Amino acid sequence: MADQWLHYFFGYAPWVIGTVIVLVAYFSTRKTPVHAPVGQTFACAKCGRRGGREQMVPVAQEGAMSWCCPSCAS
Ligand SMILES: [Zn+2]
Repeated sequence: MADQWLHYFFGYAPWVIGTVIVLVAYFSTRKTPVHAPVGQTFACAKCGRRGGREQMVPVAQEGAMSWCCPSCAS
């Protein structure tokens, strides 16, 4: 009985430990926020294409400022 438990334990221990390591690594990478440039994206007022703030061109439209992609602004 005990031998069988030992056999089971050492048979599954590498898998259990490996899974725990993977989970710990997974959650540790998730908890520490990677400071990726989330960057606000703007949708083009004409074609709706989304782009980064620096890619968009401000266009005055009916008294309001709207953002257009370079291809629409030109
Ligand atoms: Zn556009």
